[in-house]
Amino acid sequence: MKTFIHGGYLLTMAGPEIELVSDGALVIEGDRILAAGPTASLAQHRDTADRTIDARGHAILPGFVNTHTHLAGALTKAITEDVPTFGGPFRIALGMHENVIRKEDVLLPGMVHGVEMLKTGTTTINECWWHQPQSARIIEQVGLRGIVAAEIREVDSSKIGFGRIDRNWDYRLVEEGLEEAHELFENWHGRANGRITARVAPDGPDRLRPETMGMLGDLARKHGVGLHTHLCSVPGEAEFMTQAWGKKSIPLLRDLGMLGPNFIGAHCVFVDDEDIAIMAQTGSCMSHTAFLVAKRGYYPPMDKIYPSGMKVSLGSDWLSNDMYKVMRSAIVIPRAVFRDVSIRNAADVLRMATIGGAQCLGLDSEIGTLEAGKKADVQIIDMRTAWCQPLRTQNIVANLVYNANGSDVRYVFVDGELLVDDRKLTRFDESDLLNEAQAVAESVWGKSQHLFAAEGMP
Ligand SMILES: [Zn+2]
Repeated sequence: MKTFIHGGYLLTMAGPEIELVSDGALVIEGDRILAAGPTASLAQHRDTADRTIDARGHAILPGFVNTHTHLAGALTKAITEDVPTFGGPFRIALGMHENVIRKEDVLLPGMVHGVEMLKTGTTTINECWWHQPQSARIIEQVGLRGIVAAEIREVDSSKIGFGRIDRNWDYRLVEEGLEEAHELFENWHGRANGRITARVAPDGPDRLRPETMGMLGDLARKHGVGLHTHLCSVPGEAEFMTQAWGKKSIPLLRDLGMLGPNFIGAHCVFVDDEDIAIMAQTGSCMSHTAFLVAKRGYYPPMDKIYPSGMKVSLGSDWLSNDMYKVMRSAIVIPRAVFRDVSIRNAADVLRMATIGGAQCLGLDSEIGTLEAGKKADVQIIDMRTAWCQPLRTQNIVANLVYNANGSDVRYVFVDGELLVDDRKLTRFDESDLLNEAQAVAESVWGKSQHLFAAEGMP
């Protein structure tokens, strides 16, 4: 199958500066990009193409790479957003995930999350949580590219007394997680034409004992894969780590040999100068959950993180997955917090959401830019909207980042397959999925009513 896309604002994201080809074309053959450049120079492909897409008035750019996701989070959408971390609704959400939600409850709501990601331009996700074989199934069926990892914890997260030193360590939870991890490496690593791979994901340094953490580092080394963890993500984490183990999270991970270019730490909110220096020096990556953390009333010290040279990508976490929102949050929130307009611009965050994410996942030779030979993971977004017009071509990147929305994405390809065609899914019926997932979610919420009631919530 050969596809010829022409006439769009082509942003290949290749090279140190973002270059716009204002009448650009992209040729896809099989699962790869055959050519990208001015329409006039690629016109010979028009006649041999099986499919042609007229992209006039649209931007053509790489699919987004979201470096921290939880598909199962669909079941806790809009429950915890209006309160501080570990306020009542967090106890509801964590209680639901620990005690109510079963493996079979995750598939359909998780697919809805996956569809949200795909339809808003995301083509690759770095996913972890429990029930990961289900996430792998979701990724396979929705058609995304995904890295899956069983999130391994040693403590029931609904029972953690955050801010307290004691934890009821429970190694059975680790064993369950290891079983899932084993299943992922056995059955999913490298599957779906290589679209799905596996990683190792300790839940967080404050949710495992150091010896268990070290064992997970060994597991990642054994499989030759990267690590993905929550890091410096909650208030009081540094105090807990120092009291319990005599080391903060990042120095502990360094001493266990777990940091490096193959390591992604999500959130990195409660970090100090020493932590930032260690992350930068070891080439470790941060997944900056720019929209999520701001909802909780805190923010990472981006005024120090960017100048340190730490590698930063963007992640959505567990509730809302439109990367256009995440990009905008990564610009405007730190500007307001640090009173500095120069902290990041539209081009910076667009790079973080594409090639930057691919670099953090070690996938930059395959995805993240639109260049001949790379995998065809592409989004085409309609800019003929009242919120993007009038449109000055020279400012296309700022217009895209500040004004476009994920729902403007009209076509999405992953691995060369057209998965969103004129805003419609090509593999399955979306409204059927939404209805079926709603029924599953209502059943889960029904079974969680005691948790809502205990927090005095309807
Ligand atoms: Zn998370």
